[in-house]
Amino acid sequence: MTMYFCNICKTNPDQLSHHKAHLMTQKHNDKKKCFESCLTAGFTFARFNGDNPRYDVFERDTCIRFIVGDRYCRDAYRNWLVSHVLIEREFPGTIFPLSGINYSAEEDSNNSINSITLLNETLRIKNCNNHDVGSDEIENIAKNIENYDMDFFVNMIMNSADASFVALMLYKHFHKVIYLKNVKHILVDNRSGKRMKFEDNCWAYRDVGNDSNISEIPKIIRNAITMVVCEILKSKQEGISHTSNEFLVLLERISNMQKSMFKENVMRELKRLFCI
Ligand SMILES: [Zn+2]
Repeated sequence: MTMYFCNICKTNPDQLSHHKAHLMTQKHNDKKKCFESCLTAGFTFARFNGDNPRYDVFERDTCIRFIVGDRYCRDAYRNWLVSHVLIEREFPGTIFPLSGINYSAEEDSNNSINSITLLNETLRIKNCNNHDVGSDEIENIAKNIENYDMDFFVNMIMNSADASFVALMLYKHFHKVIYLKNVKHILVDNRSGKRMKFEDNCWAYRDVGNDSNISEIPKIIRNAITMVVCEILKSKQEGISHTSNEFLVLLERISNMQKSMFKENVMRELKRLFCI
């Protein structure tokens, strides 16, 4: 079941019709104006704050190594500045994406402010208790990933077209190099005192000395579906009769992995594995 609430006013999670009624209230509109002007001030501050950088605190907070001249680092730094230095004081727990925010021109800032406001005005919580069949088994394998070799995962992929087995193979391939960095937000409802937790995440390299751009990681993982997984499956095809069942199953799996929908499913499953 999905619940909705307003992260600007810190309302309690509720059904959609009640939430929509809240969005029409004077109280919400006043708070929203305040939220937007806070963001505007933050954006202006971030645009002109070149004199007194706090890269050391930024690096400690985000695990992103600041590289001078790198556009991704500059934007991530500005996002961090707005969310942690300014917004956290007035609107703690504001959900603030690490990418997709544009500071370069006033017009772009306004678009970004609108999208941050929209995001926080209507947050959704999904009941995450419905575990899929077999998810315990997958979790167990992920926890003991060192005990399984690539052949084991190839067999799993042969037996089922489910994206989770491809994700397990990629987990085996990547888990020592990258991880999913958790960014936690805790909200406290003023009336009930109830604490609500939210988590954002982004990919990062385990080795903090790694200079590579972390925004490239999703692309690297997606490429690995065709470069790593498909190559392993292709090598299994060698020496097998082209008319055998095994060969045809491998062929079908390989062609399935080229589909972007399948890749999306793998990415989602992989994120879940990195959260275990
Ligand atoms: Zn509200």
